[in-house]
Amino acid sequence: MFAKLFAKLETLQPELVKFRRDLHMYPELSFQEENTPKKVADFLIDLGFEVRTGVGGRGVVGVLKGKKPGKTVALRADFDALPIQDEKEVEYKSRVPGVMHACGHDLHTAALLGVAKVLSEVKDQIEGTVIFIHQFAEEQLPGGAKFMIEDGCLDGVDVVYGAHVMSNLPLGQIGIREGHAMAAYDAFEIEIFGKGGHAAMPHVGVDPVVLGSQLVTNLQQIVSRRIDPIKPAVVTVGSINGGQVFNVIPDTAKITGTVRTFDDDIRDQIEKAIGQITKSTCEGAGATSHYTYTKGYPPLWNHPVEAKRVEDLAKCLVDEEKVIHVPQVMGGEDFAYYVKEVPGTFFVVGGQNHEINATYPHHHPKFDVDERSMLLIGKLFISAVFNYLSDGGVKPDHVKIETNV
Ligand code: MN
Repeated sequence: MFAKLFAKLETLQPELVKFRRDLHMYPELSFQEENTPKKVADFLIDLGFEVRTGVGGRGVVGVLKGKKPGKTVALRADFDALPIQDEKEVEYKSRVPGVMHACGHDLHTAALLGVAKVLSEVKDQIEGTVIFIHQFAEEQLPGGAKFMIEDGCLDGVDVVYGAHVMSNLPLGQIGIREGHAMAAYDAFEIEIFGKGGHAAMPHVGVDPVVLGSQLVTNLQQIVSRRIDPIKPAVVTVGSINGGQVFNVIPDTAKITGTVRTFDDDIRDQIEKAIGQITKSTCEGAGATSHYTYTKGYPPLWNHPVEAKRVEDLAKCLVDEEKVIHVPQVMGGEDFAYYVKEVPGTFFVVGGQNHEINATYPHHHPKFDVDERSMLLIGKLFISAVFNYLSDGGVKPDHVKIETNV
């Protein structure tokens, strides 16, 4: 059965590549997606799915009911782009100035639509329901996942799977990690209110630029001196702004940054520590401050049973040595919200290919991936659906011999 489904997916590849390239040429930013969800919904409607649009804002959910009742599996792909100027020289380069699919979400979308099309043709062999979650706004806090879940996209769902293509993993490899895989992702902002004046008379003012630089340095003590060295944590100041000209002390300065953690207590400890250090640094110099801390995505926790299932299935698709255990990363991903609600797992698939310059890091202006990676994402999704719905009963066998990725 699997060999037939995978062969079907492969014949769809030119159509899926076309779809991906269309999204690539006309990318849309997080929370501003208009045409992308329309294109996705049209594709699913054509397949005869029950389709809900505007889910949680801009999400699209397609429902495929199998012939017999059973459990419900959800598959998720994100579809938003980034505020980056595309600098690749390819025919499908972004036509939208300053906006680009620089993380592969266009490919995730095409892969999931391919799965939808393949499964729609074998509806009578499905014992259960498959939910296709096409998610908006993964790249920007507070993320689209939370809103889609609040709007019911996981209602009745027993298990959820998600995938990410990776430009730092060679094509043909699959990465899994059980348990905590990606970090909680928070943001903070600090405004410092000093007293501006002439640059030549610093003694009559309170210089927020000096305090800002002190603060950036003082914040480095959190991870190095206050947090248990066994527990991973990152505090990064990503921007510092104050003043306009060289000979004026400004009234205010502003600092923004991000915090990444796995442990809830450490997360709270850092939130508090930034506040304390900000207050003492500023008050000690006669300035005031305003501090806001925004909790973003939770840590992403892959259920061991589901991670093991995907790992076993991956080993049926590619040679065993190509299935690797990936390390924990401090990057965040709002798939974390889904696996907080129901068991599931997120896996990564290699898209790196030196021959076509698909080697640049994610969010780089020249980011690209080998499009054949969408086949592997699709095959693993298809395998997971049937394996889960049959309680582990069916598994692809020796299909790696028949497939080229
Ligand atoms: Mn991404």
